[in-house]
Amino acid sequence: MSFLEEIQKRRTFGIISHPDAGKTTLTEKLLLFGGAIQEAGAVKNNKIKKGATSDFMEIERQRGISVATSVLAFIYKDKKINILDTPGHKDFAEDTFRTLTAVDSVIVVIDVAKGVEPQTEKLVEVCRMRKIPMIVFINKLDREGKDAFDLLDEVEQKLGLRVTPMSFPIGMGYDFKGIYNIWEKKLNIFSGDNKTTISEGVEFNDVNNPELDTIIGEPAAETLREELELVYEVYPEFDQEEYVKGDLQPVFFGSALNNFGVKELLDCFIDIAPNPQPKQAEERVVDSKEEKLTGFVFKIHANMDPKHRDRLAFVKIVSGTFKRNTPYLHVRNGKKVKFSSPNAFFAEKKEIVEESFPGDIVGLHDTGNFKIGDTLTEGEKLNFKGIPSFSPEHFRYVNNADPMKAKQLYKGLDQLMDEGVAQLFTMEMNGRRIIGTVGALQYEVIQYRLEHEYGAKCSYENINVHKACWVQPEDEKNEEFKEFKRVKQRYLAKDKEGQLVFLADSAFTIQMTQSKYPTVKLHFTSEFE
Ligand code: GDP
Repeated sequence: MSFLEEIQKRRTFGIISHPDAGKTTLTEKLLLFGGAIQEAGAVKNNKIKKGATSDFMEIERQRGISVATSVLAFIYKDKKINILDTPGHKDFAEDTFRTLTAVDSVIVVIDVAKGVEPQTEKLVEVCRMRKIPMIVFINKLDREGKDAFDLLDEVEQKLGLRVTPMSFPIGMGYDFKGIYNIWEKKLNIFSGDNKTTISEGVEFNDVNNPELDTIIGEPAAETLREELELVYEVYPEFDQEEYVKGDLQPVFFGSALNNFGVKELLDCFIDIAPNPQPKQAEERVVDSKEEKLTGFVFKIHANMDPKHRDRLAFVKIVSGTFKRNTPYLHVRNGKKVKFSSPNAFFAEKKEIVEESFPGDIVGLHDTGNFKIGDTLTEGEKLNFKGIPSFSPEHFRYVNNADPMKAKQLYKGLDQLMDEGVAQLFTMEMNGRRIIGTVGALQYEVIQYRLEHEYGAKCSYENINVHKACWVQPEDEKNEEFKEFKRVKQRYLAKDKEGQLVFLADSAFTIQMTQSKYPTVKLHFTSEFE
């Protein structure tokens, strides 16, 4: 197979949703179609119950040993499909944001009864900003839910999308009869009372055909005709180019649990979803068809097995062919590195691979040289744009609880921050360290991991910080900036990249500071123009 064919056959995507909408169930059904797994229940739900640290640890341990769950790959109709795992739990949203830098498209799962939920909104917003092509799957049609048109309205309004239904439900909940597939002009009807058996889809080019009344009954047929008429009238026709540009989002209806509408989704997905896309680096745009290798680290996974202390860095291949035992440039530290056992991922397994292509994810064993965002090339000094750090929501001082293990503690903290578990700030005045996180859960995770992986102990101490603001002075030498630094000395810290950060204790303080020092700009993310 030629290099170009390898690229064209790849589809790398993520499934995003609010917890419980059905992401795990859908993933599993997709893998079943790909023949990648044989039975339901094989895909672990990595859901974290509220506050259940032990759950998290157990999950992390399982994943540390079987990290393949981070990438699930399978072949379907000659296409190589890579699903990148995205945690739905809000405490791990940053992890998901970073993973979204490595996908070429996403599927958004929405619960028909709950509609658009907060986590869906946040994740879709990131996708929209990055112009990632999205397909929407409205799930759980076997249950009573919102009216299909109302739901489409909600998706448009709350998520700021422009939708076009590719299928339409016939009834819902108790009366759910099946789905009309607009994309393929096919009728898919449940058979049997238990709504678990599906008859093969029947071609149905013209819904005005009276046979429809025989199949689904006259009232349902009439309703469907009227609804479809409205669909054709109100919604734009599907347009491949608009979808790939992120300007139009096709919508499917179905029930992941009953495997209804999933095959239609997958069949359409492999037709329309983009293959590996060009990617913006700070220096230039890199096209996937370029022959020289480029790739970037979007995730680092610690191995929780104490006997194997190394970590796995997940690299998305952007262009060229990644080859085993071949030296590549680690752009940030300027060193050549090569890998004797790069991992590729298949369903729930990982194995050593000789070659990988654009769109693929390789897992590289790492002893601490990589951090998120690092770029690999054949020599060119390129830096792929990652996502900036956002201001954390929680802040605590971290103290060393075992004076004999200071070195271990700092090494552990350093490596955990490289993995993107949390953000570390060092106070300008006294060098004390502050950990900032998105969710409170991370503090327990960090404590646990420091102890189990690095043999270090830490304790936390509360600190009153509302937001971290990255400081951008108009002129480093002007008096205003000097005064700002003098007056706010007690609240200034450096982030891990050495950028100056103002740890503001309230929204009011931020407002006051901005009006008092108008030439000193405060930003809630680490990247600004
Ligand atoms: P995730 O948190 O998004 O990964 O959601 P899960 O896939 O774990 O699903 C959450 C719950 O919804 C589970 O109990 C599923 O069995 C259930 N579920 C998923 N899909 C459907 C569906 O199509 N219909 C119904 N009735 N339940 C579903």
